[in-house]
Amino acid sequence: EVYQRLRHAIGAGELRLHYQPVVSLRAQRIIAFEALVRWQHPERGLMGPAEFIPVAEESDVILDVGRWVLREACRQMAEWQREFAPRPPLSIGVNLSARQMNDPGLVDEVREALRVTGLAPERLRLEITESSVIGNSDGALEVLRALRRMQVGLVIDDFGTGYSSLSYLQRLPFATLKIDRSFVGELDGGGGGTPEIVRAILAMAHSLNMRVIAEGVERRGQVQRLMALGCDLLQGYYFSQP
Ligand code: C2E
Ligand code: MG
Ligand code: MG
Repeated sequence: EVYQRLRHAIGAGELRLHYQPVVSLRAQRIIAFEALVRWQHPERGLMGPAEFIPVAEESDVILDVGRWVLREACRQMAEWQREFAPRPPLSIGVNLSARQMNDPGLVDEVREALRVTGLAPERLRLEITESSVIGNSDGALEVLRALRRMQVGLVIDDFGTGYSSLSYLQRLPFATLKIDRSFVGELDGGGGGTPEIVRAILAMAHSLNMRVIAEGVERRGQVQRLMALGCDLLQGYYFSQP
């Protein structure tokens, strides 16, 4: 029933994307946006992804949601690109669920979304959580490699919250890593949080030539700690809500 309702919602135009900027402090500019899905429900109002994405992931309806998100995010970024012609151009981050990663049609869908919207592949960054790749099928690995060959950017999301099997970092073609906000939250914590884990993640990522984005940055103190640790790409309410 929920699935049918959600499927209907896609056709009825009830899904929305909100965009949150990723900023580079050194460059003093926005470098990307992340697309975050919401459901403007006629009775229940605006629902966040936590209220319907986990349910959607239990069935193939997540593939329909994911397809819509991908198209809409690419369309919007291509439009902004045309309208504002930012130099260097911006990128758009799109979250993928585990089920999409295991969908053999994903690569064609991405190619089609880029073709239809005219967005350059290197402007798209797909965000994938650790758990949807670790210990995963060869199929998912093949999908990642195919996307990389197309020049699409790959981001590992919520880093540090999954099993963190580090060997996959070397084997998989991720160019960017997002430090989970639980680590960022502790950075300036009165709770005695320490920067050691963030420091270690940064050292590891940089030695693998990965870029690092800290997410969930809410306070000035966190910005200062992150800058001091050499993390320059930041995302969070401190800069802007989605
Ligand atoms: P995520 O990909 O890690 O996205 C970041 C989440 O952190 C977003 O929550 C964002 O609104 C929130 N956030 C940003 N800055 C701050 C901050 O400073 N403090 C705090 N406390 N939170 C902050 P949101 O939009 O509720 O999305 C939650 C999760 O839902 C996302 O986590 C992502 O895993 C999933 N999601 C969102 N959109 C999609 C989608 O289109 N497809 C799929 N499969 N999953 C999605
Ligand atoms: Mg994300
Ligand atoms: Mg995240």
